[in-house]
Amino acid sequence: MLITFEGIDGSGKSTQISLLKERLIKLGHKVEVFREPGGTDVSEMIRGMLLNPELDIDPVTELLLFSSARSQLVAEKVRPLLKKDVIVILDRFYDSTTAYQGFGRKSMPIEQINQINAAATHNLVPDFTFYLRLSLEEAAERTKNFEKDRMELSGDSFFKRVFDGFEHLAKTETRFKTIDAGQDKDSIHDDIFKDLHSSL
Ligand code: C5P
Repeated sequence: MLITFEGIDGSGKSTQISLLKERLIKLGHKVEVFREPGGTDVSEMIRGMLLNPELDIDPVTELLLFSSARSQLVAEKVRPLLKKDVIVILDRFYDSTTAYQGFGRKSMPIEQINQINAAATHNLVPDFTFYLRLSLEEAAERTKNFEKDRMELSGDSFFKRVFDGFEHLAKTETRFKTIDAGQDKDSIHDDIFKDLHSSL
């Protein structure tokens, strides 16, 4: 089973992924977690480039680099683990590219991005996608003291478009489960687990 977490920066994905992993392991499942971009040596090297504030990266190059990191992760880790019945949890997947590089950066028309996403994922589609929905204001408050990476230095109008991108996906993708990320962490976890447990 492939489970992905999506949402704007500060929406609490990492906390919820840790809670879910712990719960699934207690129930006897094998679980592996990877972050995007990253999760393999090649993908982590690409992550270093993508997040480096000193680099000026063309928007199409950015899209292709995120996609390259993803392709390597799917081929090297995700596919082989799914074959062994391991539950794989991804901290971001191709929906982030639609939201950040598509809606946010407007690097290419969405139809073209959909094709690149299909290639980069080797046509792998998540079984569950949890969209942790948080307002931009609340997310900004939560992340105000964090050091900013290259993507996070992109400005308010960029983040508004990214937010709108996730909202669009939540309305159009039946796979998306929207979770109110403004709640306390245990209530968020309960909402996520309620959706999942009958499929385990
Ligand atoms: O989720 P995480 O903080 O690890 O992501 C690293 C950075 O890359 C974040 O600033 C995130 O917004 C950005 N990102 C992006 N496009 C993606 C995936 C992540 O701009 N497709």
